[in-house]
Amino acid sequence: MKALLDFVILCRGMTTKDRIKLLLFALGLRPATSVYLCITPDNLKESFLFEHTLRMYKIIYLRGREKSFEEVKKIQHNKIVWDVTGLWIDYDLFHTVKQKEQFIQYRKLWQLDKERNKRNTIAGKLYDYPLCCITQYNKETPRYICKNVDSYAFYNRMHVIDKKFSLLSYAPCSLLCKNALSQQNHFATAIRNASLSFWNHLHEVDVYETDVIVESENDIIVDGKSIWKTKNGHDYIVLAVTPFHGKHWFYTVLSKKPYPVGTVLSATIKQYATYGEVLLGREKGYIKDLHHERNLPLLRREY
Ligand SMILES: [Zn+2]
Repeated sequence: MKALLDFVILCRGMTTKDRIKLLLFALGLRPATSVYLCITPDNLKESFLFEHTLRMYKIIYLRGREKSFEEVKKIQHNKIVWDVTGLWIDYDLFHTVKQKEQFIQYRKLWQLDKERNKRNTIAGKLYDYPLCCITQYNKETPRYICKNVDSYAFYNRMHVIDKKFSLLSYAPCSLLCKNALSQQNHFATAIRNASLSFWNHLHEVDVYETDVIVESENDIIVDGKSIWKTKNGHDYIVLAVTPFHGKHWFYTVLSKKPYPVGTVLSATIKQYATYGEVLLGREKGYIKDLHHERNLPLLRREY
């Protein structure tokens, strides 16, 4: 699938994480995958080129309808100003008709919000996740998490997974899961052999200094309340004030110290290919009534 591999290397409208998924699919290491393609004035022809390439190799795919997406244009006093910048399209790819049928079965259950364990197992097998990880994922209901894991440990695990299992698109059952580790290693070897330039890109790291604004906090909410009565860790979504490659980026950062939304802190960002690591510095101030301003409604999106 040389043309599909070339598409992965040259593509500008997919996140690195999705390019990894597509590359592994093209190498035959994943039975199915799902990716998003963002179309902006800079890469108008990419959806045509992508679909042309898929058809060339007779790859079975489902294409979602275009949806608009937006980016932060500027931060002005207490306003985060957004602008619509393009469209995104979701694609589900399969090697066989049977896989497509399994996906449709999963999607139906998901849309009806029925049979959580059954549908997770269908999807897990379809995407080739290890059985131990699927079983653990099914176990992790909000009630289970609340009983067994404190908020710091829960979010810390997510951050470690981002780093240690960067080539996977699921949460392993444990940080020592042998099946997940062997998949990560197997994928690493395959990617390195398929494209050294893409492999090198995955290991690039940029460091930049910026102030960040605490925008919101990740949480697991049941009946309008956090599942944790007290929290020993807060997983914040922060917005970088200084643009990096021309854009304001959002990051997640885990903190033992609580900060109200609107807090401004200095930070060092280590930008890896698939995630960003934030090292918070000193508290610099507070923005009152921080809010978002959108000039256009998003097409086919609710928020
Ligand atoms: Zn596992």
